Amino acid sequence: MNIGEKILLKLKEEIPDIEYKRYIKQLTFDEKNSSSDQAIYYAPNTLIANYIKTKFCEKISHLFEVYSSNKVNVLITMPSKLESQTKEVKNVIDKEKIKHSMLNPSHTFDNFVVGGSNQFAYAAAKSVSEKPGGIYNPLFIYGGVGIGKTHLMQAIGNVLQNQGKNVIYTSVEQFLNDFLRHLRNGNMDRFKDKYRKCDVLLIDDIQFLSGKDSVQEEFFHTFEALKNEKKQIIITSDKHPKQIGGLEARLKSRFEWGLIADIQPPELETKINIIKKKCEINRIKLSNDVINYIATIIENNAREIEGILSKLHAYAKLMNIDINIEFAKNVLKEQQRENRANITIDLIMDVVAKELNVKPSEVKSKSRSKNIVYARRIAIYLCRDLTTNSMPQLAQYFGMKDHTAISHTMKKINELIKDDEDFKTKIEELNNKIKTAS
Ligand code: ADP
Ligand code: MG
Repeated sequence: MNIGEKILLKLKEEIPDIEYKRYIKQLTFDEKNSSSDQAIYYAPNTLIANYIKTKFCEKISHLFEVYSSNKVNVLITMPSKLESQTKEVKNVIDKEKIKHSMLNPSHTFDNFVVGGSNQFAYAAAKSVSEKPGGIYNPLFIYGGVGIGKTHLMQAIGNVLQNQGKNVIYTSVEQFLNDFLRHLRNGNMDRFKDKYRKCDVLLIDDIQFLSGKDSVQEEFFHTFEALKNEKKQIIITSDKHPKQIGGLEARLKSRFEWGLIADIQPPELETKINIIKKKCEINRIKLSNDVINYIATIIENNAREIEGILSKLHAYAKLMNIDINIEFAKNVLKEQQRENRANITIDLIMDVVAKELNVKPSEVKSKSRSKNIVYARRIAIYLCRDLTTNSMPQLAQYFGMKDHTAISHTMKKINELIKDDEDFKTKIEELNNKIKTAS
């Protein structure tokens, strides 16, 4: 029994017997002319064809999607009309393809902010979008959470899809589910058709292949087939291929065949520019001090930005006021509190000591040597700024008499920040490093 007939039997279970006998039973499936995205059935006359079309077409299409996990266009026609109708259907399918590709249309190169942290990956992605299937195949992009890997990968996908290429974007999980469903339904041919015949395969967060042997095997063959046909493969991961555990050696080595590009957490300036870009896209107006403020409170991860902007926007609208810095601070206090929970005094001590070339134990000691006093003051300032510890708590930690010593230090550092641009930059850098490390 072919898939078309199977689907009609499934339909039989869902509709009145009489409808099945009178109409559906008269359909014949054209296996030869059907494909993975189009199912063709013949009806004996136009009347029956039209009746089935209006009443059951959607159901049949849904059943195809469930049992073949493909979006299938169902055509009920008569043999004599096939040619003219398939043309019509092809147009519909092309339009549908774009709609169902799962690419986020705002993940474009234009919307991607380039900075020191991502310029190499950006250049690599741009080059792949201009010459897919060339020497940078696969393109392997890796880095931490929320730093633009998916965005960059989809930017390539959007360019190529707009040129009419068949682009598949999938997560490892989706690939795995799709694989298992086809396996269960005994139609692996369709699975192979889908993944091995596309022009561009984007597979996101490949680290999740780790330890899943059967799907690794399948992915390996998909990879080989695409690579042999010079079809572009783009992969993202949170780690370098060498660092992904539980992954077959042959896959690891293939991931290194093309180009590997890493993305680092965004610098303050890049974060500011990303916020500006998101404001522009979402038509939100913010003053520079609010933008700077947001950039300092977010982790080194751009994922929060959209959430923060919409939160600010919604509150401001609700209360009918403009977003100024006080307002922003109030609304985002909660966010800040959550972020602060990850930053500990020990972490700050480690970062400050490392950056200023002293030992954490020295920073905590009573030493009066100049560079140690300098590091200690900065550490105190950052602890006060970035953690929820009170002044007496900090005084105790740093072995000081009482909180007035802490408050004195805060005053000194604040003056320095105001007067000395270089010092201010240094503090911002440290601030950033601590947030990255947390
Ligand atoms: P990842 O896949 O690395 O976890 P995403 O690509 O999903 O991160 O990015 C998270 C969010 O941050 C998305 O909304 C994305 O558009 C945005 N983003 C990240 N980096 C940039 C960038 N350089 N320019 C513009 N937007 C960015
Ligand atoms: Mg991602």
